[in-house]
Amino acid sequence: RFIAFEGGEGAGKSTQARLLAEALRARGLTVVVTREPGGTPGAEAIRNLLLAPPREGWPAQAEALLFAAARADHVAHLIRPALMRGEWVICDRFVDSSRAYQGGAGGIGDAAITALHAFGSDGLRPDRVILLEGDEGALAGRIASRGEASDAIEGRSAEYHRAVAAAFGALAEADPHGFVRIDAIGAPQDIHAHILAAVGDLLE
Ligand code: C5P
Repeated sequence: RFIAFEGGEGAGKSTQARLLAEALRARGLTVVVTREPGGTPGAEAIRNLLLAPPREGWPAQAEALLFAAARADHVAHLIRPALMRGEWVICDRFVDSSRAYQGGAGGIGDAAITALHAFGSDGLRPDRVILLEGDEGALAGRIASRGEASDAIEGRSAEYHRAVAAAFGALAEADPHGFVRIDAIGAPQDIHAHILAAVGDLLE
């Protein structure tokens, strides 16, 4: 089974990915937790290119290609082999981040991102996408409290992040079976309980 966590920065994706993995392991399942961009040596190398862009920045098309290239490596070297072994894979971001960031907010469009994903990763889809959503101000507060810049990729505006959130919402609305929208504001254990319930049918 393949579960992806999606949402903007500060939504608690990594924490919830870890809590879900612990809960699944407690049920005796073998779980791989990974993240994007990154997750394999090749994809982590591409992540460094993305998070430390050249001074003039990446053109939107180059950025989309780099994310797709990182994902292709990650899928080929880690995600597919784990799924083939019958393991669970929990990924902190997957292609729907590219659809929301590069496709939606970045203006590349969904058709291009989907085509890149078909070419790069054979169109692999998660069995379920957990979309963590929260009020902009609350999420920004969390990012500030962990001492990170509000966006590791320089020069992105609050408007860009609003566009990302809106794009995620639209993706979820278009695919209500594939996505589960979860309120990311609250106690981590309460949010975890909602997430566990949202993947319950996959455990049967
Ligand atoms: O989730 P994480 O904080 O590790 O993401 C790293 C950075 O990459 C963030 O700044 C995020 O906004 C950005 N990102 C992006 N497009 C994606 C995935 C992540 O711009 N498709």
